[in-house]
Amino acid sequence: MAEPELVDVVVVGLGVGGEEVAGRLAEAGLSVVGVERDLVGGECPYWGCVPSKMMIRAANALAEARRVDGLAGSAQVRADWAPVAKRIREEATDTWNDRAAVDRFTGKGGRFLRGSGRLDGPGRVRVGDQVFQARHGIVLGTGTRPSIAPIDGLAGTPYWTNHQAIEVAELPASLLVLGGGAIGAELAQVFARFGVAVTVLEASGRILALEEPESSEVAAAALRADGVEIATEVRADRVEHDGDTFTVHAGDRSFSAEKLLVVTGRRAHLDELGLDTVGIDAGQRYLPVDDRMHVTDGIWAVGDVTGEGAFTHIAMYQASIVVADVLDGVRRAEAGPDASGTASVVGGAMGAASAVGGSMGAAGPSGAAGTVPRADYRALPRVTFTDPEVGAVGLTERQARERGINVQVGFTELSSSTRGWIHKSEPGGFIKVIADADQGVLIGATSVGPAGGEVLSALVVAVHAAVPVSQLRHMIYAYPTFHRAIQSALDDLS
Ligand SMILES: Cc1cc2nc3c(=O)[nH]c(=O)nc-3n(C[C@H](O)[C@H](O)[C@H](O)COP(=O)(O)OP(=O)(O)OC[C@H]3O[C@@H](n4cnc5c(N)ncnc54)[C@H](O)[C@@H]3O)c2cc1C
Repeated sequence: MAEPELVDVVVVGLGVGGEEVAGRLAEAGLSVVGVERDLVGGECPYWGCVPSKMMIRAANALAEARRVDGLAGSAQVRADWAPVAKRIREEATDTWNDRAAVDRFTGKGGRFLRGSGRLDGPGRVRVGDQVFQARHGIVLGTGTRPSIAPIDGLAGTPYWTNHQAIEVAELPASLLVLGGGAIGAELAQVFARFGVAVTVLEASGRILALEEPESSEVAAAALRADGVEIATEVRADRVEHDGDTFTVHAGDRSFSAEKLLVVTGRRAHLDELGLDTVGIDAGQRYLPVDDRMHVTDGIWAVGDVTGEGAFTHIAMYQASIVVADVLDGVRRAEAGPDASGTASVVGGAMGAASAVGGSMGAAGPSGAAGTVPRADYRALPRVTFTDPEVGAVGLTERQARERGINVQVGFTELSSSTRGWIHKSEPGGFIKVIADADQGVLIGATSVGPAGGEVLSALVVAVHAAVPVSQLRHMIYAYPTFHRAIQSALDDLS
C-alpha cells in the first residue's frame, strides 16, 4: 500500500464550490490537492447555467424580434441554431475543455489531480494509487448527476440528459421533455422558439411545482404561447424507442417525439466516495451539513451535494464559509491549545481570498471579524430563466402557512403598473409578497416578469435584512420601472 503523502487540504470534486474552496485555500498559502474526474468547473460552465443562459439569450432575441409586429412594424425571423451551438462550443466551453480552469487553479498554487477521489479512512483520500493524508481537512464538492427514474424500457435508450441537450449541434424536429421543473421549462421554451415541437410531461399538477401556483400559471401560459404542449399528471410508466421515435406511456396516455430529454431531478454523487470508511451513511440522498458546512470531524461539504439548494450561488456562498472555517482551524492549530479567539490570521487570509474570489456574499465580512460565518438560507433567491423570468426568494405562501406563521399576502399584476402596461408583454407577470404580520417583515416574495430575476434583488434585500414593511412602503420607487410594482404589492398586504 502506498505511503500517504501529507498535505494541508484535499478537495474532492472541483465544480463551482470545490474549485472556489480549493483556489482560495491555495491562495491563502495552504498546500491543497484538488481532485476532479471530469471538467474543472463542473456542471455550471459546461452543461448548466452558462450555456443554457446563452441558449436562452438567443431564444429571447428571436421572441423579441417576433414582437416587432404590432409594436414597431413587421419583422421576418429565421431561426438558426448554428450560431448558438458555435457560441456554446467556442465561447462558453472551449469545446468542453477545462485547460483554462486547471491553469487558473494551479496558478493560485494548487496541485491538480485528474481522477476519482475516495475517502480512505479518517483524514485520508485515495486517488488511484496515490493516498493523501489531509492535515487540516477534506472538502467534498462532488455535486450531482441527473436522477433518472427507473421507468420500464428507459435504460439503454439514447435519451438526453442536460448534457446532450446543451451539446446538441442540430435540433430534432420534436422533443419530449420529461420533467417540468426549472431546467425542463427553460430548455422547453428555448427549443420551441427554435422551431422544435416540444411537449413537456410533468408528474404533478403544474410545471414549476415548487414555486407559487401563480408562477406556474404564467410560465405555462408563456410556454404554450411559444407552441409548447404541456401535459400534467403524467406518471411515465414505460418508454419505447424504435430507432427513430421515443414513445412515453403513462397509463392510457402516450406521447411520441424524435428525442426525449429527461430532467426529473438530480442525485448527489455519494456512491463510490468511501463514506463508509469514515462512518458516514453512504445511502443518504445528500450529505447533511451543519451551518459551517461540517459533515463530520475534519470533513466539510460544499455545493449541490449538501442538498441545501442546487444553485451556483449557494455553492459560492457555502464555499466562503468553508474557506473561513478551514482557515480558522489552521489558525487555532498553529496557535496551539491556548489560542484565543483573535481574528488576525483569519482576517488576513479572508481579505486576500475575497479580493480574488469577489464572492464573499453575506458570509464574508463576518468571517473577517474573527467568528466563522454561519450559513443562513432564509433569503435564498432562485430564478427560472423562462420568458417571463420567475424570480423568488424565501418562503412561498404555502410554506409560510405550513409553518404556522401569521401570514399576510400582497399581490399585483405587472400589467397594472405603468411599465408593465407600456411593455405590453403577454402573458405578463406579477409581484407577490409574503409578510410575517407579527414581525412586520417580508419572509418571501415572487417576481415574475420580463426582468423578474433582476427585480427580485430588491426583494432579496428586504427578506435578508428583515427591512420593516413600514419602511419598504415609504421607499421611493423610480417611475416607470418594473420594480415599482413592489410598492403596489406592499400596498395590497392584508
Ligand atoms: C441545465 C442546468 C442549468 C442550470 N442553471 C443554473 C442557473 O441558472 N443558476 C444557478 O445558480 N444554478 C444553475 N444550475 C445548477 C448549477 O449548475 C449547480 O448548482 C452547480 O453546478 C453546483 O456546483 P457544485 O460545485 O456543487 O457541483 P458540480 O458543478 O456538479 O461539480 C461537481 C464536480 O465533482 C466532480 N466529482 C464528482 N465525484 C467525484 C469524485 N469522486 N472525484 C473527483 N471528482 C468528482 C464532478 O465531475 C463535477 O465536476 C443549473 C444546472 C443545470 C443542470
